[in-house]
Amino acid sequence: MKMTVLSLFPEILEAYFISSIMAKAVKRDVMSYRLMNIRDFAFDVHRRCDDLPYGGGAGMVLKPEPVARALEWVGARNRRTVYVSPGGTPLDTALIHDFSNENEIVILCGRYEGIDQRVIDRYVTDEVSIGDYVVSSGEVAALVVIDAVYRVCEGVINGESLAEESFADGLLEYPHYTRPADYRGDSVPRVLVSGHHAQIAAWRREKMIERTRRVRPDLIERYVRAHGSS
Ligand code: SAH
Repeated sequence: MKMTVLSLFPEILEAYFISSIMAKAVKRDVMSYRLMNIRDFAFDVHRRCDDLPYGGGAGMVLKPEPVARALEWVGARNRRTVYVSPGGTPLDTALIHDFSNENEIVILCGRYEGIDQRVIDRYVTDEVSIGDYVVSSGEVAALVVIDAVYRVCEGVINGESLAEESFADGLLEYPHYTRPADYRGDSVPRVLVSGHHAQIAAWRREKMIERTRRVRPDLIERYVRAHGSS
């Protein structure tokens, strides 16, 4: 899969693509990326990308021309084009899997107060939010999308890890333990050292339900509706 990201600060994103598991995925050709600097598409002498908001108010707005030129350049009209924005649909596992099935996604990062609405109306297919709070940099939000999408692409992470993790079947994950078996007087739950796979699986399931019920009653409701019991 290919990820094309349009940003005023592509160096923030570059660091991610050249590090750790992502770097390996790129090396193995499982992933590829293009980072475009929106400023390269501003043609006035000061290469200006922002301006004052019509109607007044604080802050600056990204101008339509450079953003639109950058989008045209990467072929956004024929691609899934994602604008990360607090005003978007909340990102969830289903949407992440949907994005991961594309050959390429274009991600547009906002800054300041945001981007001129006319460009969003013309090019963006998906406006998505990473949560009910504001971060000051679209790059931070884009990295959340990039990471969540690439890790579910075939050949990046072992399928067993994905099947067992939080949200895979609508529940939060069970707690993890590793050595030592006794840490400052706290011992590992006995069932985990029993070697009894069916009992371990049952214990983990119980913990998943217990945690989800406590922390995310909204998810439990959905889970019960889908599975008929809790
Ligand atoms: N004035 C905007 C916030 C702009 S923050 C508002 O009140 O809605 C600057 C940029 O950061 C946004 O254009 C967007 O790209 C990104 N951003 C901020 N919060 C985000 C969130 N919760 N989800 C996705 N992107 C976000």
